Amino acid sequence: MTLDRRMFLSGAAGGLVATALPSSSAAQGVIALPDDLVSNEYATVTAVATPQPVVAMTFDDGPHPSLTPRLLDILAARNIKATFYLIGSRVAQWPQITRRIAAEGHEIGNHTWSHPYLNRRSTQNVIREIDRTTEVIFDATGRPPVTFRPPYGAFTRSQRLMLHEHRRLPTILWSVDPQDWRRPGANAVASRILRGSRPGAIILSHDIHSGTIAAMPATLDGLRARGMQFATVSQMLGWPLWQTRHFRRVAAS
Ligand SMILES: [Zn+2]
Repeated sequence: MTLDRRMFLSGAAGGLVATALPSSSAAQGVIALPDDLVSNEYATVTAVATPQPVVAMTFDDGPHPSLTPRLLDILAARNIKATFYLIGSRVAQWPQITRRIAAEGHEIGNHTWSHPYLNRRSTQNVIREIDRTTEVIFDATGRPPVTFRPPYGAFTRSQRLMLHEHRRLPTILWSVDPQDWRRPGANAVASRILRGSRPGAIILSHDIHSGTIAAMPATLDGLRARGMQFATVSQMLGWPLWQTRHFRRVAAS
């Protein structure tokens, strides 16, 4: 991970109360912003500063036709809500799985259309990758994503600021990376996540690897045994649940 990671400090704004809007006094640490929320300059999140024992599970690169449904079953059996950073071209291929993710109370974020290294792309190309994905997620679920995750974390600071300014999408990175894409085995994935997780952690993994799915029962039960609760990315930011957000379409520019 070569990008500089800016810790997002939200104080009281970070927490589990999904319906509480950040007050203006809390706006110091509040990121970005659909238009029902206060805005300021923060464009990048790697974790949330909170004393509450809460973590966000995030799953990238889906939907996968068989593994994502298996993961959804595992999450549903535990009543855990997670955040899925979906690839637009895969949403187009599996819109019914995308709809199931949203219908079961999980959040969906934008992970580009074709999973490129965006730091090598023009602004116009970056916006096209992201807008096209927002559109297909909107078509499948009736709502647009409110956060963005760049493939490989490869997104420059000026790109993050640009995206925040033009699309009101904060860039969500992560504070725990089990390197599950290297396929180290389910036990390694689970133990790396358990070892790395602190209150406010954003945990990266990928629901396109069977080892990751196999790791999830022990991971989720282990986090819970350590007293952790689970929140979506929006909840971690002190935002309303994704499914209840007000939104409007931003004119393309
Ligand atoms: Zn990815």
